[in-house]
Amino acid sequence: MLKEKLVNLLSPTQVTDEPSELQHYGQDWIDDYKANPSLVVFPESIEQVQKVINFCRSNKIALVPSGGRTGMSAGATATSGECVLSLERLRKIVEVSKVDRSITCQAGVVTEVAQQAAAAEGLYLPLDFGARASSTIGGNIATNVGGLHVIRYGNIRQWVLGLKVVTASGELLTLNGKLYKNQTGPDLTSIFIGSEGILGVIVEATLKLTRPPGDSLRMLCGISNLNAALSLLVSAREAFREITSFEFFTDRCLKQVIAHSELRQPFSEMYDFYLVIEAETAAKDAEKWLAKNLEDGTVKNALISHSSVQYEEFMKYRELIPELVHASHTVHKNDVSVAISDVPAFYGDLTATFKQYYPSYEVLIFGHIGDGNLHIEVIKPEELPEQEFINECKQVDHHIFSVVKKYHGSISAEHGVGLLKRDYLHYTRTEAEINYLRKLKSIFDPDNILNPGKVIPA
Ligand SMILES: Cc1cc2nc3c(=O)[nH]c(=O)nc-3n(C[C@H](O)[C@H](O)[C@H](O)COP(=O)(O)OP(=O)(O)OC[C@H]3O[C@@H](n4cnc5c(N)ncnc54)[C@H](O)[C@@H]3O)c2cc1C
Repeated sequence: MLKEKLVNLLSPTQVTDEPSELQHYGQDWIDDYKANPSLVVFPESIEQVQKVINFCRSNKIALVPSGGRTGMSAGATATSGECVLSLERLRKIVEVSKVDRSITCQAGVVTEVAQQAAAAEGLYLPLDFGARASSTIGGNIATNVGGLHVIRYGNIRQWVLGLKVVTASGELLTLNGKLYKNQTGPDLTSIFIGSEGILGVIVEATLKLTRPPGDSLRMLCGISNLNAALSLLVSAREAFREITSFEFFTDRCLKQVIAHSELRQPFSEMYDFYLVIEAETAAKDAEKWLAKNLEDGTVKNALISHSSVQYEEFMKYRELIPELVHASHTVHKNDVSVAISDVPAFYGDLTATFKQYYPSYEVLIFGHIGDGNLHIEVIKPEELPEQEFINECKQVDHHIFSVVKKYHGSISAEHGVGLLKRDYLHYTRTEAEINYLRKLKSIFDPDNILNPGKVIPA
């Protein structure tokens, strides 16, 4: 029996087929698919990952690499009797080096734990997103995670120095180590960043670190249109030393947050859009900048954080949206991007599409407008059966992605493709690109055992 063989390879406490564990480890944050793995294995060393992969390759057993399962594309979801390869017991921090300004850790280290280890040495790992307390460094790299600070620090891709990756043949690749400079031909490290577990299993990573941000403040602004948001982005870039976040949400998002949390209305009036801007700057510069923009009407109303409580609270209006909506409704999510300069026109076309196809649905739009990235969450009407809702959303996605394509945008800005977006990939990637992806997959995983059926359409 498969379980016994894997127990012999590892140990009894490292293999489970207990139904509640299969449910727990078989699914990420996306509810559209039923978890149906046959087993979950928990290797505790790189050698054990190699053993499992060698065994699965010889026996043609499909594997689903799994980190913290906070992914939003069903990339870590096992729907077809696969074996889940959980990396959560590979959780050693190997080294934090002040000289190299780097952290080396195993793939299962929780993002926040890696950040705390860096902070203990006075250094900073600039990843900031809602799931950092449960996502893993391996999962972050496999999804090229972004988040609230991309405008300043970029995605995790910019912070990866080196990787250790086990390919589908069980071979361990040690790529680039801690080198800041290594121009010896095309870089293999970057192929695995954002590869969503279809090319290899990341088992260890070395990430660059930086100095912690200096004194920062946050501003919460009410505005009436997205052209105003872009002129504020340009003038904020000129006025402040660093912009760390430039986030937006609509009035509908604010209503949801107020309804489902203890946060209060920030202003006595409602505005169509809200911005949360985080900047490393002096309060007097921020006050001057806001006064000018309030005077000429670009900003309708604004608050500056004057305490750590306010500083935290302003971002909560934005950061709590997905969590609160997920907890209280069934939602269909999209995460799209266009060039920053195209956001206002794109938003106009998008809302026209929603009016046509979702006239009675509640649609929430928010996100990282400073990166051209909009999150779209459609709430299921209570009376509508779930499957009907999912089917309808999947149809409407074609219309949404046609608009994305018109603007040469991406159907998945940072949540990846997984199962959820696989059949829409052609809206962003050309047939030629998809063919190269197929060839790449067959080089690293000729037997198609790593996350089969994910990312690349058949
Ligand atoms: C509330 C909330 C807010 C979020 N906000 C953001 C945000 O602002 N920006 C953003 O980019 N994302 C965001 N996410 C999405 C998610 O947190 C990220 O995609 C995260 O990087 C996933 O990490 P994970 O460890 O949970 O990976 P998982 O969900 O476990 O896996 C993700 C993918 O990577 C593969 N994988 C996992 N580990 C490995 C490994 N070691 N080797 C190879 N492949 C592997 C899996 O097979 C899967 O395809 C958010 C999620 C939640 C729940």
